[in-house]
Amino acid sequence: MNLIKKPPVYREIQKNNFTQLDKLLDFLEFDDATKSSLLNSHYPFVLNLPMRLAQKIRKNSLNDPLFKQFVPTRSELEKEEGFSKNPLEEDSFLCAPKLLQKYEGRALLVTTSACAMHCRYCFRKNYPYEKQTAGNFEIEIDRIEKDESIQEVILSGGDTLSLSNESMRSLLHKLSDIPHVKLIRFHSRFIVGIPERVDKEFLSILEESPKQIIFVTHINHYLELDDDVLHALKSIQKLGIPMLNQSVLLQGVNDNLITLKTLHEMLIYRGIIPYYLHQLDPVSGTKHFQVEKEKGLQLIEKLKACQPGYSIPRYVEELPHQKNKLDITS
Ligand code: SF4
Repeated sequence: MNLIKKPPVYREIQKNNFTQLDKLLDFLEFDDATKSSLLNSHYPFVLNLPMRLAQKIRKNSLNDPLFKQFVPTRSELEKEEGFSKNPLEEDSFLCAPKLLQKYEGRALLVTTSACAMHCRYCFRKNYPYEKQTAGNFEIEIDRIEKDESIQEVILSGGDTLSLSNESMRSLLHKLSDIPHVKLIRFHSRFIVGIPERVDKEFLSILEESPKQIIFVTHINHYLELDDDVLHALKSIQKLGIPMLNQSVLLQGVNDNLITLKTLHEMLIYRGIIPYYLHQLDPVSGTKHFQVEKEKGLQLIEKLKACQPGYSIPRYVEELPHQKNKLDITS
């Protein structure tokens, strides 16, 4: 009998991620002139793009909304005033090596540095994950246990779905043993890259949790959704887990009415509520993604004119040292 445990399917799929720019550009059939003039292959926040997303990108196009989100360009090297490595200064909210306590009643656990993909606009791309202690969240769980004001634990990263099922089960068990924790919230983008991550074991871990789980997906463009992704999301929803979505407003990606309207329709037709539309966090190298707030406000007004209230996300921004998000529309 073969006693060697086979790795889960999604781990095998992850090995097919594009991590070398040349290979990706060949796959996307880029011509040499476009390659050399616009792309940079040596940026420290490396390319990491699941095959299934690469397959959705238009060939030889710099303007594809998925290409823009995941492939590094020379624009990232531009230094811009107001943009910095750590724009939200999250360290000031650290109450344990991997625990941020920013909002009243909630604490955010940075569960991992790993993600299914690397998004070029990511506000945590410079996060000092390496300074975090190794281990199984003992210090953080201890801190949550001792602070009875924490009713909700937000699982973030990186992307929590990068954890193995074994680690995930152990973490959820520990949180479930804390009486004052009532809610466990997942924030995840993993599924748009590797929907196979939602395997039977993961679903059973969610199902077994005695705490109410809330799932927040991070989807910016309707092209990120397809039958496999929607099926994976539906299998989570079927467990009675409310599902919300948040998007980042990104220039050249989703800063137009048709894209946002189509995305919201695809979400609400599946019972996923658009929750937040985020103004870009000004992390260095992302200026080219920034959308003026005036334009964002106009988009919200246009959405209000053609979609029901429950499908209009709150247009918000996060400011350093603030204990709540700022509602830009108010
Ligand atoms: S999945 Fe989320 S945490 Fe990971 S790179 Fe993208 S935006 Fe950042």
